Amino acid sequence: MRFGRRASKAPWYSGGLAFECQECGGCCAGPQEGYVWVTRDEVEAIAAHLRISVHEMMDKYVRKVGRRLSLIEVKKTKDCVFLETARDGQRRCAIYSYRPKQCLTWPFWRSNIGDQDDWAMAGVRCVGINRGKLHSLDEIETRRDATRE
Ligand code: SF4
Ligand code: SF4
Repeated sequence: MRFGRRASKAPWYSGGLAFECQECGGCCAGPQEGYVWVTRDEVEAIAAHLRISVHEMMDKYVRKVGRRLSLIEVKKTKDCVFLETARDGQRRCAIYSYRPKQCLTWPFWRSNIGDQDDWAMAGVRCVGINRGKLHSLDEIETRRDATRE
């Protein structure tokens, strides 16, 4: 007798998950303090996009947390420093195309897709969950694996 490989169980979201950002700014805003982790490469890319030096970027928009880097928050509101309110009242990311991986991979974080309850809880915080575009299993898992929580 030999041991065969156990067929791995398909995840509960194997049929895909719907998500489309509604640009409410909720996940980028206070009142709770939070961290928007950035890598050195991301800092450099954002600085280039803003046409400022890395030194200025670090000085104005980044704080050190232990050995890691995080975007700063507006002191009073605890909003991410790059969250802006457009004329139409929508709250948008001012560096959307250059946003850090942490933002890019939301909401397909391990902590949100563990089971259906986790997903439902994430949906309480994010109105884009279970709306709009259906993301495939591959897409979900690629984003999940790219996220360091
Ligand atoms: S909370 Fe959800 S819908 Fe609102 S900005 Fe964040 S990702 Fe978009
Ligand atoms: S970088 Fe952009 S997407 Fe990320 S938290 Fe800040 S405003 Fe939101």
